[in-house]
Amino acid sequence: PAGAPVVGRFAPSPTGRMHAGNVYAALAAWLVAKSQGGRIVLRIEDLDRERSKTAYVDQVQRDFEALGLCWDEGPYFQHNRDEAYQAAFDILKERGLTYPCYCTRADLLAASAPHRGEKPVYPGTCRHLSAEERAEREAGGRAPAMRLMVDERELSLVDAIQGPYSQQLKRDCGDFLVRRSDGAFAYQLAVVVDDAAQGVTSVVRGVDLLCSTPQQMHLQELLGLPHPTYAHVPLLVGERDRRLSKRDKDASLEELLERFGTPQAIVGHIAGITGLAESDEPATPEELLGRFSLEQFRERIPDLVQIPWR
Ligand code: GLU
Repeated sequence: PAGAPVVGRFAPSPTGRMHAGNVYAALAAWLVAKSQGGRIVLRIEDLDRERSKTAYVDQVQRDFEALGLCWDEGPYFQHNRDEAYQAAFDILKERGLTYPCYCTRADLLAASAPHRGEKPVYPGTCRHLSAEERAEREAGGRAPAMRLMVDERELSLVDAIQGPYSQQLKRDCGDFLVRRSDGAFAYQLAVVVDDAAQGVTSVVRGVDLLCSTPQQMHLQELLGLPHPTYAHVPLLVGERDRRLSKRDKDASLEELLERFGTPQAIVGHIAGITGLAESDEPATPEELLGRFSLEQFRERIPDLVQIPWR
């Protein structure tokens, strides 16, 4: 393979047992990186300390191993990376691009009135507070979150699977959070800092994160970090197009093992229904790799993959 070495990643959140959609995204990331002679970094995204559980941190690693999805580097974690996130945050702050936001969840919902399934756009309520208004809110005792000011520039990418995609952040997203009111750094900031620090060049993940990509690219530009390439795979859905969720234990690895018997049968089946492979015969990722090409995957890929048994 020509050019710089490819580095892909697994970035699981240890908030539950993985489900078929997580297996699909990881398998796709692995095949895309390995088919280009690349490496895989494992990063456990335990930024949300309340929802992350140590038991799942161990489980997710055993599950990857059982599925034959080996990583070459890591695990890295997010819970011990505050210094790096703070340094990035300080750069944004010193450039005058951040401001405190005192809005409650209810304020946000009332102000942005998102349509169903639409991403809420922050209308900039706290951006223009006067010094007095700010002091008043401070006195109210609410710890503020911190937002990044965005502008009218159009951010565009060509996703390897979804094709061209763009957002004008001010219109389509609004000023977004870089630090939460509980002091935790926001996902968008952490993921950008970590992808760069870990040398990730190829991001393959579920299409639910496509709408976050322009925010992440904007942060990369402000922080002087390179853009990785992006490939967003379709979501797997249950009956009536319901989204799979970890909470409902939907198509969890537990259930998949019961249904299919072996990790190879799960891998083969998921590869077959998603276009990663031509057939749904049981297979290890290594076996699929011998026959995998991103071109063919792109041609076969369905928009939406319904799990036939849910
Ligand atoms: N941790 C996220 C998840 O498990 C993935 C984030 C990303 O790929 O950027 O859904």
